[in-house]
Amino acid sequence: MATFKAPVDDIKYLINEFLDTSELNGNPMFDDMTPDLTDAIFEEAGKITETLLFPLNRSGDEQGCSIDNGKVTTPDGFKEAYQEMSEAGWGNLTCKTEHGGQGLPHYIANAVDEMMISSNMSFSIYMGLTIGAYNAVEKFATDELKQKFLLNMVSGKWSGTMCLTEPHCGTDLGLIRTKALPLEDGSYDITGSKIFISAGEHDLTENILHLVLARTPDAPDGIKGISLFIVPKINIDSEGSLAEANHVSCSGIEHKMGIKASSTCSIEFENSNGYLVGELNKGMKAMFIMMNSARIHVGIQGLALAHTSYCGAVVYAKERLQGRALTGIKHPDKVADPLIVHPNVRRMLITMKAYTEGARALSTWLSFKLDVSYQSNNPQQRQQADELVSLLTPVFKSFLTDIGETVTSMGIQVYGGHGYIRENGMEQYLRDARICRIYEGTNGIQALDLVGRKLPAHMGRYLRHFFHPLSAFLEQHAEDKKMSAYIQPLAKSFTRLQNATLFIAQRGLANPDEAGAAASDYLKMFGLVAMAYIWSKMVAQILHDKGDMPDSFYDAKLKTGLFFMQRLLPETGSLLSNIMSGSDNIMSLGENQF
Ligand SMILES: Cc1cc2nc3c(=O)[nH]c(=O)nc-3n(C[C@H](O)[C@H](O)[C@H](O)COP(=O)(O)OP(=O)(O)OC[C@H]3O[C@@H](n4cnc5c(N)ncnc54)[C@H](O)[C@@H]3O)c2cc1C
Repeated sequence: MATFKAPVDDIKYLINEFLDTSELNGNPMFDDMTPDLTDAIFEEAGKITETLLFPLNRSGDEQGCSIDNGKVTTPDGFKEAYQEMSEAGWGNLTCKTEHGGQGLPHYIANAVDEMMISSNMSFSIYMGLTIGAYNAVEKFATDELKQKFLLNMVSGKWSGTMCLTEPHCGTDLGLIRTKALPLEDGSYDITGSKIFISAGEHDLTENILHLVLARTPDAPDGIKGISLFIVPKINIDSEGSLAEANHVSCSGIEHKMGIKASSTCSIEFENSNGYLVGELNKGMKAMFIMMNSARIHVGIQGLALAHTSYCGAVVYAKERLQGRALTGIKHPDKVADPLIVHPNVRRMLITMKAYTEGARALSTWLSFKLDVSYQSNNPQQRQQADELVSLLTPVFKSFLTDIGETVTSMGIQVYGGHGYIRENGMEQYLRDARICRIYEGTNGIQALDLVGRKLPAHMGRYLRHFFHPLSAFLEQHAEDKKMSAYIQPLAKSFTRLQNATLFIAQRGLANPDEAGAAASDYLKMFGLVAMAYIWSKMVAQILHDKGDMPDSFYDAKLKTGLFFMQRLLPETGSLLSNIMSGSDNIMSLGENQF
């Protein structure tokens, strides 16, 4: 039996006790976020995800989406759940109140998102994409377009998509062929084929608004000639009501490994009416501006599935009776001891716990920095936060989605053969988690973004926003004996990260393949150090505020954090060796030798 318990207690701890929100003191949006209010939000979110969305997770996976004559049907129960979630406002938490949204900060909304994804990732994608499209229109479209589209997006009446990928181009969007011909009335005639479009067609809403990347006739070649358009599936008349269909069709849906209840569609635009969003030829710029929050969202998908898998694994390890504890019988009243007595099973469980709780803390902290980058009244603080978030976004996206795969795979291992078969639901989490490493820029591309763009940005200025506070933290706790088991490994791994950074900066300049060959190991090292920093911050605060409280929630944090420092963080050593070995061992084999 699959099990899901929303991590409400951990989220409340992170928001109410761990997170330092002083950077936004005095900002009305944040001053309203009292524990009474946010606790109520998290408890309600916990309830609705456990009782409404999770029960549809397995059936949605079994049934999947179907297509008949261009019409896509989502699994049973999705339509009703979508209605209920939209009416309750769960789909528009960060949307502005003037458009009917809740106007909540990201550090609150992302915690709710985690619960939605954990309980039913496929379902969450329909709502998440509408937010992505809302952000694009809200930030870049004209007032006229905003008036036309935003209210119905925020209410959940109309949904959104992101149409980038074409059959011949995924990573390399400079190759896009979809055409946009200017019309006399200022709109555009859009023609082209897009593939792999999540929520491209479905039965949940009465209209779908496609955000489409396309090229105008005299646009420059490559990435600099791409513009962004909004193309409704059904046209909207001057009164704001649905009018005639807009020649947008779904020619097929993909049969895929996971997220089977999320429709992945081929969409054909045939002389469809579209409207320019933002400036001509600046479509990629608009996309880049939205990427921080979109990629953080995908990182949260990795965390969320790790959590669900952990929930199942813990329950099973306490129930399943196999063998006896190495140190002697623990449950003489039973025919055998439960799995959880075995050190190797515990090793897996605590690895899952350490990664998941570390990822959640990192997510809370980074989501708050995202809020500071948008909302601070202090321009310098805004810029610093923006640069820190830009630096950490590729790390967060890749590291957490890698964790998603590692942890969901471990969840299966805890169940043994009972995890591999479908009946217990554990294998679905691994299948669902796998896509997170691919879409929204593959993890390999994130690593290149980190070493190629983020490290050298402004002569290492982005990097200093992370390195300097980390150095200060190490200095602050250097003499703190209680912290030494945490601080020493953190300091050691941080030195490794600094050495790797120097190595890549020097070698990569002379030969870009050196940077390319080191990139993925470097990103993982960065992720481990960032997570170790966050674990250490939690531990320092607990030791300071609570002292030792045996057998408590806080005691579990101290022990889990220590496991992370002693058993997971040391991987930075082997990652540094990989990086220092250079690129020859990867590049010297000729193409014909593969
Ligand atoms: C289920 C699903 C949902 C999706 N949803 C959407 C959506 O809603 N909207 C949308 O537009 N797209 C969507 N996509 C597409 C997705 O974003 C792309 O699949 C992804 O960007 C990778 O592109 P690709 O598949 O063409 O792989 P390719 O670009 O062909 O890459 C193949 C491999 O080569 C590597 N690679 C490519 N170029 C380089 C390079 N320059 N340097 C180093 N390595 C490189 C990649 O990292 C990857 O490992 C979805 C895909 C799937 C499967």
